[in-house]
Amino acid sequence: MTKICVMSENLANKISAGEVVEKVASVVKELVENSIDALSTDIKVALTNGGLNGIIVSDNGCGMDKEDALLAFQRHATSKLLREDDLFFIDTLGFRGEALPSIASVSEVDLTTSTGGVGTHIKIKGGKLIINENSDSLVGTKIEVKNLFYNTPARLKYLKSEATELANCVSYIEKLALSYPNISFKLTNNDHIVVKTSGSNNLKKTIHEIYGLQVSSKLLEIKASNDDYDVYGYICKPEILKSNRYHMTTIVNGRVVRNNELNKAINDAYYTYKPDIKFPIVVLKINTDPTLIDVNIHPTKQDIKLSKISGLIELLTSSIKDALYKNLLVPSAVERLEATTDIITKQEIQNIIAEKETINNNDNNTQTEFNFFVEEKEKELPNIVEENKEIKKLKLYPVGAVHGTYIIAENEEGMYLIDQHAAQERINYEKFFNALKESEVYKTATLFPITIELSSSEALILKEHLEFLNSIGFILEEFGINTFKVLEHPTWLLQGYEEESIRRIIDLIISYGNKFDPIKFRENASITLACKMSIKANMHISLDAMTILLDELVKTDNPYNCPHGRPTMIKFTNYDLERMFKRVMN
Ligand code: ZN
Ligand code: ZN
Repeated sequence: MTKICVMSENLANKISAGEVVEKVASVVKELVENSIDALSTDIKVALTNGGLNGIIVSDNGCGMDKEDALLAFQRHATSKLLREDDLFFIDTLGFRGEALPSIASVSEVDLTTSTGGVGTHIKIKGGKLIINENSDSLVGTKIEVKNLFYNTPARLKYLKSEATELANCVSYIEKLALSYPNISFKLTNNDHIVVKTSGSNNLKKTIHEIYGLQVSSKLLEIKASNDDYDVYGYICKPEILKSNRYHMTTIVNGRVVRNNELNKAINDAYYTYKPDIKFPIVVLKINTDPTLIDVNIHPTKQDIKLSKISGLIELLTSSIKDALYKNLLVPSAVERLEATTDIITKQEIQNIIAEKETINNNDNNTQTEFNFFVEEKEKELPNIVEENKEIKKLKLYPVGAVHGTYIIAENEEGMYLIDQHAAQERINYEKFFNALKESEVYKTATLFPITIELSSSEALILKEHLEFLNSIGFILEEFGINTFKVLEHPTWLLQGYEEESIRRIIDLIISYGNKFDPIKFRENASITLACKMSIKANMHISLDAMTILLDELVKTDNPYNCPHGRPTMIKFTNYDLERMFKRVMN
């Protein structure tokens, strides 16, 4: 039976051709995806010098008979796309039919394959069949690609360095291994193992095999559904973060995809749990009805478009926030020291290189802006307050302070160091955030006249938002050309800081230009005001003031991070202390 059919010309034209083969990783991708489609459970990729001097992919899949093997090197032969309709229901890795002939036309390909009976050995060089003979191989397929682009010097020079080509292959195989935990993958470079997974069909174990124990021991499980989407997978706790976005993996219907909106939503869900410049490790499998996926995008790109994406974003955001919230824990001093040692491996460096290239290649993909559903976000806070009773039992007793900056506190569990600015910033942030979303606003008239002078363009933007300012308690009146007078302000502004606070709020509104988003405004205004109005470092406060500060801190929704995502406190458990002083060994 012939498994590979020749595509109709019409269908072929519907698939935007473009540059299907452009680097080592695109060859690896093509070959490995063929192995997956052949139902392999064990796939080995052996590279020589990052693939520049040879790529071998071998599998234990169903193999091909001679007819299929020869057909596979013809243009537009594919086993996946049979009818036009199939384009919209791609469950397999899809799209191909051009890549294998393209690869064979610019390299030397050696194929041995068998379905169980007599095997086939084919050799093609520069698109020409050189050898076609029987072989005695085992069931499965082994393809070797050598001398890539030997006959197209223009393309040859676009191949990157060994490290970069290798990094691209590693990142691809890692992501594939995460989407197929049931398949065992092994990637070697010059006989050194770079990636190896066991095919255990256990996602957590696969994450462990790729990222190691430090990551796999800090995972939180995510499981959520709505009418259209099911989400399952793992996210890392905020103690383990990476300095690049590369480690957010989203797999839609078994296929690793790159979607800026999803990545942004995932990263934003960590808001205030982490600094902006750090990114989480996330592996999420998203399953949905294939009709919601628009795959009619360039074949080599992992980009897809999803219908009803706002529902998915909402689902991701709420489930990640929920998981992070339920696992709030004060970072232990010892763990934190270990975590921040942050040894950068060669692999990390390569990943960063790969990441940079991806970003450069995607410069023209404008990041789609999106808005959260305002009402849904507003519902979150009361829920959080409900569940937070556990944390509020924490009690901290101050014993002093270091340099008027770090409060030392104790309780029965151990010793704590608290950054007094960060602590008060968290308290004020929540206070202001809540005040800004209150529907009933208590206002007071300004004690001294406050006038705001702006440039013409700034004044135009501000005029657009006078009503919004009104709704949060700031009553402004136009007062001459490009000048506004503040008549009333909300009572929650800190005394003595009224004018500065108002100026900061107006600056913030103007900075958004025509992209004003009330939710982002509320968050950013709360952070700015909280930072400004909180006690600074090097300010000595009394023990009583410390007691009040710590009592208020433990009552907040997230006492462990300031709104910028930095830690407010570090804990030394009694055991940590005993260990440090060698009162206990191990
Ligand atoms: Zn600050
Ligand atoms: Zn801060």
